[in-house]
Amino acid sequence: MNPTKEEYLDDKGKSKQRYNQTRADKETRYANFNIHKSISLDEKERLSIDLIKMALQRAKKPVISCSFGIDSVIDIYLTRKSLIELGRDPSDIDIVWNDTANEFREVRQYQKMLTNLWNLRLTITKPKRTLKHIIDRNGGITDDYFTARKGDRRNGRPLSERCCGTLKHEPMKRAVKENSWDLLIVGLRADESSQRLQAGLRDGEYFYSVAEWKSYVCRPILWWREKDIWDYVEQENIPFNDLYKMNLIQEYPENTEETVFANKSLIEEYELDYYDLGDRQTQTVNRKQAMMLEKLGFKIFTPRTGCMMCPIPVKYGYMQWMRINHEKVYNAMVYNLGYGNALINMIPKDVREEIEYIMGIELTAENAHTYLKEILEAKPCTFDKF
Ligand code: SF4
Repeated sequence: MNPTKEEYLDDKGKSKQRYNQTRADKETRYANFNIHKSISLDEKERLSIDLIKMALQRAKKPVISCSFGIDSVIDIYLTRKSLIELGRDPSDIDIVWNDTANEFREVRQYQKMLTNLWNLRLTITKPKRTLKHIIDRNGGITDDYFTARKGDRRNGRPLSERCCGTLKHEPMKRAVKENSWDLLIVGLRADESSQRLQAGLRDGEYFYSVAEWKSYVCRPILWWREKDIWDYVEQENIPFNDLYKMNLIQEYPENTEETVFANKSLIEEYELDYYDLGDRQTQTVNRKQAMMLEKLGFKIFTPRTGCMMCPIPVKYGYMQWMRINHEKVYNAMVYNLGYGNALINMIPKDVREEIEYIMGIELTAENAHTYLKEILEAKPCTFDKF
């Protein structure tokens, strides 16, 4: 069903146009947001399934946009349940995955497994350029690639925004057009960032995307919290990719021993070794364990399903995680993509001073890159923290 345009007068009496049959009114959008703060997981599931059923019944060619991260996999799972309730084959839905050629092996393996397990009707899109092309066309890496937020226009459009446009948005837009998909089911969740919360409150769970997709968009788990996601995964025994088991403890709380002792039974309930944790021996935990430890004051790095060589999470300690878990890719980022030359000028003062002391040199913006290899051999954790 296509939305219809209507004329209306705004508050100042000016004539304007808007689309009918698109988003819920503001009162409903906010009410849905608030309702989800107190309802049970079963009730959330019911609301999501009813929403998907409504959206599917209005659509001619629906598709689920999937990154093979847990949110979009839950979308698939809920859509399969919705299709069964509608008396249809649970696999009777298109799924689209944008393979940026920059995907983790854990995600590729999982994509193959799930495609077979659930008999997914998968379309794979690809960008026209690679990450390396984008960086080379920019004349190399610039600091803003690591630091500028999307939407920041102080130094022009940030490279990360152009990168997302080329590697992610363009192939998806092309695929939506070529396949005439008229409903996109997406795994956006409001609690992931304030930007997503604003987008959620502005458009709600179901609306017609006039500017971006020119199709209906359905967000079945918009108001689910991260805890809901993992409780649901456990309850329904949904398989997930191995990245979610690889959360890295980056910092222990100052009073680790006391904290661990005071929370012994909770830690055991989450199947963590109480003594190892107290001795700071545990490095990697699963997502549920990570959420519990974060509440106790541990600092955890959580890898995201998506572009493996992305510069955006570098400021949160991503290079440390890559160095430990994907050494070859880490080296490609540092040396082949040129991250090392840019990052060496951004390291914290205490790390710089330590390197100067160990190596007996004075680091300057001009000479730093010539010492890069030696620096990383002498101090492999140089890029761990920014
Ligand atoms: S997520 Fe990162 S690497 Fe991927 S397209 Fe966006 S900026 Fe580029």
